[in-house]
Amino acid sequence: MRFLLDNPTFAMACRQFDQAADLLDLPQDLRERTKWPKRMVTVAVPVRRDSGEVTVFNGYRVQHHLSLGPTKGGIRYAPTVDLGEVSALAMWMSWKCALMGLPYGGAKGGVACDPRELSRRECEALTRRYTQELIPFLGSHSDIPAPDLGTDEQVMAWMMDTYSNHAGYAVPEIVTGKPVSIGGSLGRREATGRGVAFLVNRAAELLKLPSPLRVIVQGFGNVGCHAALELARTGASIVGISDRTGAVYRAGGIDLAALQRHVAREGGVQGFSEADPIDGEEILVQPCDVLIPAAVERVIRADVAGRIRCRILAEGANGPTTPEADGVLAERPEIFVLPDILCNAGGVVVSYFEWVQDLQSFFWSEKEIYDALFRILTDALAKILKRAEQRRVSTRMAALMIGIERVAEAKRIRGLFP
Ligand code: GLU
Repeated sequence: MRFLLDNPTFAMACRQFDQAADLLDLPQDLRERTKWPKRMVTVAVPVRRDSGEVTVFNGYRVQHHLSLGPTKGGIRYAPTVDLGEVSALAMWMSWKCALMGLPYGGAKGGVACDPRELSRRECEALTRRYTQELIPFLGSHSDIPAPDLGTDEQVMAWMMDTYSNHAGYAVPEIVTGKPVSIGGSLGRREATGRGVAFLVNRAAELLKLPSPLRVIVQGFGNVGCHAALELARTGASIVGISDRTGAVYRAGGIDLAALQRHVAREGGVQGFSEADPIDGEEILVQPCDVLIPAAVERVIRADVAGRIRCRILAEGANGPTTPEADGVLAERPEIFVLPDILCNAGGVVVSYFEWVQDLQSFFWSEKEIYDALFRILTDALAKILKRAEQRRVSTRMAALMIGIERVAEAKRIRGLFP
């Protein structure tokens, strides 16, 4: 498995793990057992294109650890997907689920493709064939997928349908993030973004930041969009937004409804006339109270970390900040970091609620869901702050220590088989 260390995202996840394991003083054998992914599946996914040709895509599913329950994590459709990236994301899911107290190990999957270049029929064929190839490895008590970058409720519906056809009856609990009409949970679609907004508001209270908060969001997908909407609803001013097409800035605040209409029409924020265009890197370093990277990994590198001008760095994305950047942030105590495995955990927590509701065939109100989510996030934030203060470590290290410690303890107490 060490060959994966050539992948920069996997190397980054391992480096974070090693730092936290050192702080925890984890014995070497437990450290090795806790670190490496348990199962990695690679599948060839042949798809007949609309042109009649066949394209074979590479698909992956990595299950990081099985010690606390089924594995859980999203499915990513993006050109950059590879085994190393998926393995790193699976590892982060493990620490995230453990930090939240969910009875899951981490997983992640994906197909290396550009979903924007697939027709709807091709995307359905790809999803169904990928699911079919993974059937021996999936299960509502072994591994439960969910949406991630480039996938959505429709993709989850096709996965659920493919698996259910194989089983011979409807198995809604095989995936989360499904449409509500087939057993999805109320509030799941907005859960990650609303969780981010909730934690930003708690952090702003702690830091006694004056309102309105000025917020910059990198990424206007499911996470970035709902985080921005919820923050705006709670009184913040969204001054900058970027996506893969470009970036826009308006010191007086962006009209999100108008921007959403523009994005629906044009496919991205570029060309939005009610704000000024700005360079995609430059937007990260504009003055603001809250900077929310909500796109992909490794965008806050050391050079960017030295230049950002926010008070709260709220990591909506997984792995947006490199260990080198963390080194720079350690010298900048004025910036409060809401680390990814806390900040974006709202999605998987509500996925857990969806799974529980499906298993019980008993559904909750949106209020019950969000009350329970906010209780879990409040509790996790308090634990992180306490650990960070006790051990004099960053909020990231505190969060990782709590997550890793729980997984390692499950392995220790269960013992080594045989
Ligand atoms: N893909 C999301 C994440 O990275 C959600 C995973 C899930 O709901 O299982 O946390």
